[in-house]
Amino acid sequence: MRKPFIAGNWKMNTDGHSGPALVKAVGQGLTQFDMSKVNVAVIPPFVYLAQIVAAARASRIAVGAQDIYYEQKGAFTGEISAYMIKDVGCNYCLCGHSERRHVIGEQDELINKKVHAAINGGLLPILCVGELLEEREAGKTEEVVERQVKKGFEGLIAAKAAAVTLAYEPVWAIGTGRTATPAQAQEVHAMLRKLLAELYDKSFADDIRIQYGGSVKPDNAAELMQKEDIDGLLVGGASLKADDFLAIIKASIGD
Ligand code: PEP
Repeated sequence: MRKPFIAGNWKMNTDGHSGPALVKAVGQGLTQFDMSKVNVAVIPPFVYLAQIVAAARASRIAVGAQDIYYEQKGAFTGEISAYMIKDVGCNYCLCGHSERRHVIGEQDELINKKVHAAINGGLLPILCVGELLEEREAGKTEEVVERQVKKGFEGLIAAKAAAVTLAYEPVWAIGTGRTATPAQAQEVHAMLRKLLAELYDKSFADDIRIQYGGSVKPDNAAELMQKEDIDGLLVGGASLKADDFLAIIKASIGD
């Protein structure tokens, strides 16, 4: 049984006042839910991580970083290591979010190094994959996400790869208000699970959680989560409003 995992990616939003207030409001709202049924994480900007870890302490909310660098320390100006993220009390980090791939220009090889560094540093990476609109329209969705997954997991034995949550986020659905239909998402999720069974084995593929991300809102969360291979949601915009994020969590666990 895969436990639903709902994560809120705050991107480059919030500040030293609104972030702690947001995580406290979410934590307060979660007291109504049976938290044994769901994992919840928030993913704030780097500079607020320690503050958000402190503000989330009384709740069951885990905290993650939006990125890491793959070296542990040294002359890498502007970068943050897995060790540092773990040191401030985080459990998760995103690797290869579409904005890192397509705005910053990260390539599969770099993302793979980050996934290795995250696991070796004691973090649980959320590896994001997804096709551009033109790739979908050219019928290349499967080819693109297969390449991203194969490269993302390259060199990881199953015992380490089990730390990964995979997130399927079609780029055309992120921040656009245009969600993949539950059927479109399920089709890709099923394909990804089959691919992971080939790369590892069936029991690995049965256990790994695959989140969907891309304009998830309170009114589409339940329908997405009803699909067999959708095990969680990576939520951007709607995670910035406590009521919306809580409604998504509620819809995801069917409470
Ligand atoms: C995201 O940031 O990963 C995301 C899916 O954003 P949004 O929900 O705003 O589309």
